[in-house]
Amino acid sequence: MSIVVQKYGGSSVADVRRIRLVADRVMRTKQAGYDVVVVVSAMGDTTDDLLRLAKQVSPNPDRRELDMLLTAGERISMALLSMAIRELGGDAISFTGSQSGIITNDRHVDARIIEVRPVRLQDELANGRIVVIAGYQGVSYRREVTTLGRGGSDTTAVAMAAALGAEYCEICSDVDGVYTADPRVVPDARRIGTLSYEETQELAESGARVLNAQAVEFAKEKGIAIFARATSSSLPGADPSADGTVVRRHPPRQPGTVVGVASERDVLLIVAAFGGPERPALHQPDVERTIQPPDVGRAFQARRDASDDVLALLDDHNVTGKQLHLIGDAMTLVVSRENLHGEERLRAALAARFGDAVRVTDTLGAISVVGAGINASFDNVRRGSAALTASGASIAGIATSSFRITWMIDRERLDDAVRLLHKTFIETLG
Ligand code: ADP
Ligand code: ASP
Ligand code: MG
Repeated sequence: MSIVVQKYGGSSVADVRRIRLVADRVMRTKQAGYDVVVVVSAMGDTTDDLLRLAKQVSPNPDRRELDMLLTAGERISMALLSMAIRELGGDAISFTGSQSGIITNDRHVDARIIEVRPVRLQDELANGRIVVIAGYQGVSYRREVTTLGRGGSDTTAVAMAAALGAEYCEICSDVDGVYTADPRVVPDARRIGTLSYEETQELAESGARVLNAQAVEFAKEKGIAIFARATSSSLPGADPSADGTVVRRHPPRQPGTVVGVASERDVLLIVAAFGGPERPALHQPDVERTIQPPDVGRAFQARRDASDDVLALLDDHNVTGKQLHLIGDAMTLVVSRENLHGEERLRAALAARFGDAVRVTDTLGAISVVGAGINASFDNVRRGSAALTASGASIAGIATSSFRITWMIDRERLDDAVRLLHKTFIETLG
């Protein structure tokens, strides 16, 4: 029998009524002749509530203890959904991430899945049962409970779909697919029927919450088709792109087409300025004061050593950077705040170790346009920059990759900028 993995997000299991609706959808899938594995998120805003609670007790909470706390959220929903399915006459059993065989590294709070050993699930499926598992969590080789980073239930679902050889993996949410921009911000955003893994990954990494970037990376690696759909939708029909988004390997689109606009509000910009060639590298106070012009390579090496010190400190604080640039006298790095739970401690450590040489800015946000080949010429960069500038936004930085252009602008202007760039790059093309 074919296996289907379905994931239901927090808003889809936010209360008892919605849990019953999910149970009903799961039952319909089972009755359609599939073996069903269901992955659930914590109810509504439970994860945020638990984090708030933790921060009341400790502003820089211990990451292991955070994982012990946060995994409780998904555990509640898995048990309730399993009960609800049983009420409808289904035979369901729930498992934690650890019981499901999700083995991760030991990086607490944003662990990576290393291996999935779904033996227990396979036994239960063979017995005809519906398996409900807690998303967003696993267990390390040291038998420590871990979580997979915010939005990590998507990753659980895709990893499980890959391990079980599922026919497809449905990510069910309050929105019926991936849109050209967050439909809450851009009323004219359109659902995109089909997306490639690369486009989806870039959208997710640029802040489109609807699919988790790590989950898409997994799906790409294992060739799993993701169907992003509304929880209220019917089961996928012959053409799941008709009422949802299908992410899989697709023939390339016309190169240079912008497929979507995404933004990320909660970022920090870290700028480390190591001074000109006449200034010593930070961690080498005894280095000679003057480096002659022919020694440019050596000066760069000294600055690189200094930037390595900054990066080592960031690693010690489990900070993951998004874009690193080390050019001339400065290193810049964009850091997502999503899985950073000891910001005060990090700032204090940077100040103590590097003083004024490292500055942290938290007034900026990132806005990106995504599409294959959009940087074949500089036309798109120039068009976006001109539109942003004309709207009064001042651009603090630009970064590009072959799939993306990102502008750093004042965080307060982010939503307006998303609407503006959506108009500039997507609506104008009809
Ligand atoms: P879930 O709890 O189901 O995982 P999330 O809140 O993580 O749901 O993701 C769904 C939300 O993502 C939507 O409500 C929508 O506001 C937001 N979103 C952001 N960008 C996009 C996009 N490009 N397409 C669709 N939804 C988006
Ligand atoms: N509950 C977790 C979160 O809010 C995981 C998830 O929803 O995917 O981030
Ligand atoms: Mg999510």
